Amino acid sequence: MTDTAAHVLDPVGTAQGALVDTFGRTAKDLRISVTDRCNFRCVYCMPAEGMEFVPREELLSYEEISRLARLFVEDLGIESIRLTGGEPTVRRDLDRLVAMLAALRTPAGDPVEISLTTNGSALTRLAGRLRDAGLSRVNVSLDSLKRERFLAMTRRDAIDEVLAGIDAAVVAGLTPVKVNAVIVRGHNDDEIIDFATYARDRGVQIRFIEYMPLDASGSWSLEQVVSAVEVVSAINEVYPLEPVKHGAEPATRWRYADGLGEIGVIPSVTNPFCGDCDRVRLTAEGQFRTCLFALDELDLRHPLRSGATDADLAALVTKAVWGKWAGHRIGRVDFIRPNRSMSQIGG
Ligand code: SAM
Ligand code: SF4
Repeated sequence: MTDTAAHVLDPVGTAQGALVDTFGRTAKDLRISVTDRCNFRCVYCMPAEGMEFVPREELLSYEEISRLARLFVEDLGIESIRLTGGEPTVRRDLDRLVAMLAALRTPAGDPVEISLTTNGSALTRLAGRLRDAGLSRVNVSLDSLKRERFLAMTRRDAIDEVLAGIDAAVVAGLTPVKVNAVIVRGHNDDEIIDFATYARDRGVQIRFIEYMPLDASGSWSLEQVVSAVEVVSAINEVYPLEPVKHGAEPATRWRYADGLGEIGVIPSVTNPFCGDCDRVRLTAEGQFRTCLFALDELDLRHPLRSGATDADLAALVTKAVWGKWAGHRIGRVDFIRPNRSMSQIGG
């Protein structure tokens, strides 16, 4: 452990070494975006053209990411790390970063669970290397099982690579492999049962994500959101479901009554899980965010590059988490969209 814990600025006398907010929530999960770049252009995330990317010199290096991650794990109570983006596999030598993070230990001496959210297009090449470096599991995005539809939604003709990538992740043992589908009304809501069937056949867990107002085009509307309730009731008619008791995680889990696995639904819009939120985020250029929808960020890159000590950085982060809001207000008149889209924040 570093010498930070003894010096952490503790705004209210809460337990040292924990990231606690005024609503009594404790952050335990850190999402790290490693790049805002991507080889896909999903309609609900990025524009077809004209996306501006963070200049390379502003991206945190793997050494900088790992210094911050060590601080979060050793001194600030983080127990799991998810790598995301943009598309994390477009950043060179991602396995090198995974190995650096997999070496971290909590104060109790436990390893940290390292997972990855990816569009899957590079997994046939990378799954084994990432597992060998210490990756525990993957979430792979898949928005259609039909070639033309997949192309329309991702603007890339890459369905074969992604399906093969999901299989490669299973073979590599990056399990449970979770497959994320964002359901957008009028685009892929007719494939809900097909997704369930595919996942049952392949032995992966399908997770349906409600479409959130984080698309770069700004064309999101509530009418396009297919609610978790709607998804569960459609599947239940074909494959009867039973609820699974779960903790702070956002997916509401349901198991098939016939024992052939389970599904997850993420009702971020219709039934937000903000009251149980245990996550915080670091963007690719080193901005710390306490919420996906936060309107402000804490710059960690400049202090990091200008000689801040671990204690200085821990104090900044602790204070930011203490000020975390109760939650977003999607669908209410006072909802304000963040000025960054999903790939820029890190989903
Ligand atoms: N490129 C990787 C991928 O697609 O899995 C990781 C980054 S992506 C931003 C992370 C997750 O956010 C993906 O599961 C993606 O489907 C989801 N996502 C992107 N835009 C979204 C939106 N507007 N609403 C809901 N989920 C979204
Ligand atoms: Fe890229 Fe993922 Fe966004 Fe699709 S959802 S454009 S794969 S970052």
